[in-house]
Amino acid sequence: MDKSDKNKSRKFDVPFEEIKRQREYVNLAKTVLETRFGLIEPLAYVHTFGCQGNVADSERMKGWLAQMGYGFTEEIEQADFVLYNTCAVREHAHDRVFGNVGALKPIKEKKPHMIIALCGCMMQQEHVWQKIKKSYPFVNLVFGTHAQHRLPELMYKALCGGKRVFEVENSDGFIAEGVPVRRDGSFKGWLPIMYGCNNFCSYCVVPYVRGRERSRTPEAVIAEANELIASGCRDITLLGQNVNSYNRDSGEMNFAELLKQINNIDGDFKIRFMTSHPKDCTFELLDTMARCEKVSRHLHLPFQSGNNRVLKEMNRGYTREKYLSLIEYARKVMPDISLTSDIIVGFPGETYEEFCDTLSLIKEVEFTSLYTFIYSPREGTKAASMPDPVSREEKGKWFRELTSAQEQIAAKRSQKMLGQTYRVLCEEHSGGMLSGRTDGNVMIDFPGDESRIGEFVNVKVTACRNWTLSGEIAD
Ligand code: SAH
Ligand code: SF4
Repeated sequence: MDKSDKNKSRKFDVPFEEIKRQREYVNLAKTVLETRFGLIEPLAYVHTFGCQGNVADSERMKGWLAQMGYGFTEEIEQADFVLYNTCAVREHAHDRVFGNVGALKPIKEKKPHMIIALCGCMMQQEHVWQKIKKSYPFVNLVFGTHAQHRLPELMYKALCGGKRVFEVENSDGFIAEGVPVRRDGSFKGWLPIMYGCNNFCSYCVVPYVRGRERSRTPEAVIAEANELIASGCRDITLLGQNVNSYNRDSGEMNFAELLKQINNIDGDFKIRFMTSHPKDCTFELLDTMARCEKVSRHLHLPFQSGNNRVLKEMNRGYTREKYLSLIEYARKVMPDISLTSDIIVGFPGETYEEFCDTLSLIKEVEFTSLYTFIYSPREGTKAASMPDPVSREEKGKWFRELTSAQEQIAAKRSQKMLGQTYRVLCEEHSGGMLSGRTDGNVMIDFPGDESRIGEFVNVKVTACRNWTLSGEIAD
């Protein structure tokens, strides 16, 4: 690619003029808030469901809201604006959103000027927004993932009153640079490097609600990393549904190279990333992790199932053997690597014998921790129309078998950590105790002063109860 090509915008890049237009809407919305509602210091309540990608999106929407003059509250009753950023990945999150929205009705009756907005993945599903349109008339504003960067315009329309605003068109998706960000924390930062997904795992709704895979430019990502570090951030998590395929289509800087570049930035900070897809995880990436001292010795590599037939039906694009070869190589080049994974129990048609292959895989690998889910059918996905004869109750039994096996593995791992000293970033403080994560993403709590939050400290592990660890500062 020659230099002049680099400045060309790609088909999914939102033009700078559009962001400028949104800034004009910021001022218009501010004027309506002041003149029509007399709100000089309006308050917003923003609640995020689901993954870190959603959290990062909410930080950008809060950036726009802050520019419109909104402050933020944790008390819904105090809010003039309520925003739910929703998740569609499993039924549980979906149901919680409907429960939460239903509960807003009496609050809004007492506070009629309150604007209620729903956004995010669920709103990209037609059956969801149709239901909101029909049965939740007190919701003023609904927009999907592809309209997020236009929040000022949508807010302005909602504030002007009249018709309810629905912006839910389907799209392959956009990348909007130049959107303000209001971060939730100062020493931990989420940094999206790509959006969307092209993998169409047969159980998963993400490709339908998040559009096609598209990568931010290395310049934009590195600039944001620099900004985070300059503002005191100590722990950066690079985000994407499949970070290993960063820039795959453009042939520009790949993920391993991006890691190296961020690792080269001066400062005392750690780099994490998620999610890594085994299909695209390479030995090159593992070698790069091993060489980059700021990259955490933690690899979240979801395998979903340990059985090759189920993996094929899931459309995951790798086998158990390929997965295990990645783990073996990761441990060869980083003996202290901490491994975590996602698992789905009870995929349609999975038998108990096939589930036992998942069980044997977790025993073989000995993960630090697992995120385990019972399969949840998602409308419009391929798996939702597959025969699913095993009862929920039976799947529940398998699930408990898996989690209790993992508890034993984690307890063994905790025992091994006893007496060792780890570098920990102090993240929270309560009742005289600090807590934070090791490089390998294990939580430890230890006595300490609140003033140390955001600092790295060395902590010696002095006690372990099953998989929770306690220690003392060893500096
Ligand atoms: N892009 C990531 C996963 C994003 S979704 C990856 O490929 O690893 C996060 C996790 O939710 C998945 O890893 C999977 O374990 C779980 N999940 C997704 N769809 C699901 C469904 N329909 N039922 C149950 N769990 C699901
Ligand atoms: Fe969903 Fe698969 Fe894409 Fe992950 S890689 S978001 S599981 S479709």
